[in-house]
Amino acid sequence: MDNKYYKDFGSWIREQFPYRVQKISIDAGFSCPNRDGRISSGGCIYCDNRTFNPSYCHRHESISMQLEKGKEFFGRKYPDMKYLAYFQAYTNTYAPLSDLKRMYEEALGVEDVVGIVIGTRPDCVSDELLDYLAELNKRTFVLIEYGIESANDETLLRINRGHNFECCRLAVEKAHNRGLLTGGHIILGLPGEDAEESLRQAPIISSLPLDILKIHQMQIIRGTKLAQEYEAHPFHVYTVEEYIDLIVAYIGKLRKDLVLERFVSQSPPELLIAPKWGLKNYEFTNILNNKLKEVYGDK
Ligand code: SF4
Repeated sequence: MDNKYYKDFGSWIREQFPYRVQKISIDAGFSCPNRDGRISSGGCIYCDNRTFNPSYCHRHESISMQLEKGKEFFGRKYPDMKYLAYFQAYTNTYAPLSDLKRMYEEALGVEDVVGIVIGTRPDCVSDELLDYLAELNKRTFVLIEYGIESANDETLLRINRGHNFECCRLAVEKAHNRGLLTGGHIILGLPGEDAEESLRQAPIISSLPLDILKIHQMQIIRGTKLAQEYEAHPFHVYTVEEYIDLIVAYIGKLRKDLVLERFVSQSPPELLIAPKWGLKNYEFTNILNNKLKEVYGDK
C-alpha cells in the first residue's frame, strides 16, 4: 500500500520493475580510506562494519557465491524474485576502475540479478567511474548511494568523516547530472546535533538532487570510538518517542518527490549499546504512520 505522507521506497521500487526485487548485500572485500590511513586510520567514530553484514554474506566468498547464497535465502519464499546486488560493506568504489568494473560485471552476470546498488563515500568517486556507471545505467539498473550523514561541517569533523558537506553536494550533483539514480544516507542524533539542528538541515539535504534518502538513528555500537566516549561520558540518545517526533517533523521539511527508504537501522543486539528500543522495523513504521496521521491528518 502506498504511504500517504511520503514517497516510500517499497512502492517506488515496484514501479521500477515489472516483478518483485530484493537487494542482496555483498561484502566484496573493500576497505575504506577513512580506516586504512589514506584519509585517517580511525574511521568514523560510530563505524563498525560488523553491523553491515547479514548472515549469508561473507567477504572471503566470491561475489557470485554471496549472491547465489542470498538468492537461495530469499528465493525460498518467492521463487520468481529478481535481485539487486547491493555493494554495501565499507567503501564500494575504493579500488582501481578496472577492478571495480570486474566486480560489478561479475555481480550483473549472476542469473536473476537485474541491477546494482553501490554504497560509497562522496570523496571516493572519480569522473571516470561515474562515466562508466552512466554507461552501465543504459543497460541495467544502477543506484549509487552516498554516506552524507550530516550537512554540518563541524559535525562531520567531530565524527571524523574525513570530508565536508560541499564534497557531498558535488558528488550527488555529478551522479545526478549523468542520469544516475542517486541515494543519500544521513544519521539523526549525531554528537552535537539536537532535533533543532537536524530540522535546520532537512531543507538543505532536500535541496540536493537526490532520488532516495535513508535516515538512521544514531546507534552506539560496541568497540567503536563513540562507544568509548559514551562509556566515559554518557550522553542522551533519543528515546523512540523523541525520534519519532523528530522524523515526523523532518519529513514535513522534505521535498514530496524524495523517496524515503528507511528511518531506522537494526544493529545486532549483542553489538548495540544504545538506544535499545527493541522494535522491529515494521513496528517502528506502524508507530510512525500513526503519528504522521495524528500530526498531518488523515489525507
Ligand atoms: S566511511 Fe563508512 S566504512 Fe569508512 S569509516 Fe566511515 S562508516 Fe566506516
